[in-house]
Amino acid sequence: MCGIFGIYPHKDAAELTCLGLYALQHRGEESAGIISRQGKKVHLHKALGLVSSVFNEKILRSLRGDLAVGHLRYSTTGSSNIKNTQPFYVKSKLWDIAIAHNGNLTNTLELSKELENRGALFQTTMDSEIITHLLAHSQKKDIKEAIVWALSKLEGAYSLVLMVNDTLIGARDTFGWRPLCLGKLDGAYVLASETCALDLINAEYIRDIEPGEIVFIKKDTIESIKPFKETKRAFCIFEYIYFSRPDSNIFCHNVYLARKKLGMQLANEFPIQADMVMPIPDSGVFAALGFAEVSKIPFEFGMIRNHYIGRTFIQPSQDLRDFRVKIKLNPLRDVLKGKEVILVEDSIVRGTTSRARLKTLRQAGVSKIHMRVSCPPLRFPCFYGIDFPTRKELIAAKHDLDWVRDFIGADSLEYLSLEGMLKAMPLAKENFCTACFTGEYPVNHTCHFSKTLLERSSRQST
Ligand code: 5GP
Ligand code: MG
Repeated sequence: MCGIFGIYPHKDAAELTCLGLYALQHRGEESAGIISRQGKKVHLHKALGLVSSVFNEKILRSLRGDLAVGHLRYSTTGSSNIKNTQPFYVKSKLWDIAIAHNGNLTNTLELSKELENRGALFQTTMDSEIITHLLAHSQKKDIKEAIVWALSKLEGAYSLVLMVNDTLIGARDTFGWRPLCLGKLDGAYVLASETCALDLINAEYIRDIEPGEIVFIKKDTIESIKPFKETKRAFCIFEYIYFSRPDSNIFCHNVYLARKKLGMQLANEFPIQADMVMPIPDSGVFAALGFAEVSKIPFEFGMIRNHYIGRTFIQPSQDLRDFRVKIKLNPLRDVLKGKEVILVEDSIVRGTTSRARLKTLRQAGVSKIHMRVSCPPLRFPCFYGIDFPTRKELIAAKHDLDWVRDFIGADSLEYLSLEGMLKAMPLAKENFCTACFTGEYPVNHTCHFSKTLLERSSRQST
């Protein structure tokens, strides 16, 4: 996962990009970066950490120019590393190239080998760097031709914001796994992962960048091309379930409403009586609202979230994990004591946080917990950018429902059905990638492909 943003031409390009990144922070908390362009000069600042700690007024003032590209990183494998932050910037014979990438390429290994054989020296372990090398190696003198050639070599998921010389470019792979939208502010064009970033800077939403589309934004013009053969669409359904912000419209529809519908469908599929419906905040809130509305059981907040934790407490060691769970959510004993609750969660991935939350609720005195999950069991890894790296980390890939119920400590557990999930979506089912639930990947993957994925630890996705 990652968040991307770009704007051109605007006198406050870097400041607006910083605000855009604030709005997109949920898409990546590991690092943040902005590159700006002023005439022929570029200015770049990036670092590990949240937007609020990476940028300050002085830094933003130094990022001069009317074109800016921003990036937030959420790496799916390996350790955080300053080298792997974006925007990634290189200067080739013809071009100044900066790239901000969201998604995960699936032919990374073959492309990097091919490029290395031609003399490319990689500076990072990011799949995104490959795109810059392809551009540099393209032998085309025209930006459009070079971009089309480079992108035609890619397989897998990409939503991109690029700066190539004085052109701002937005592109989305033909399947459309990751979102990307286009907006306008004071005559400038804006590209952003989600519409919540446009809202914050008061930009007007124009439309989504379409699957397979590339837009070239120059000082006075915008040009759109769709040079690739159309494929099926494969919008990531997990963007609606968990990843995007509820106040965003992605794939042209609102996320909050989609999540609420998932909860309504869940209540229809698994009706049950209890004293209250409560979410695991924050991600479970919207489905819980839908569940409560349909079941006519009161909605309550049974635990309160501390919003001031930040990354400091996100420690890898297991001893600290319980502490982290505790500091993040505090149960409301007076609301919970002796009560039978329907606990709504958006998804169960590894099961470890759910287990910790349920333990806290028991300690607070609930009498029964009926866990309801607003998507089907996650059983297959995502190769396109969501953090479900391997089957063995997905609890539902290894264990059946009863085992998971006992592991997390619920009295009952139900997951929304695949059909129910698709029915709740604002778009027809043909538009979605549901591979993490079904194992049916939108692309026929060869053995070579799985080998690429096995070697992903050496070349990380963004
Ligand atoms: P689990 O119980 O599986 O340990 O954790 C489930 C929780 O993780 C849910 O609350 C869900 O909102 C959240 N979640 C789902 N997918 C992701 C993801 O890709 N990254 C992160 N950080 N959390 C996720
Ligand atoms: Mg959650």
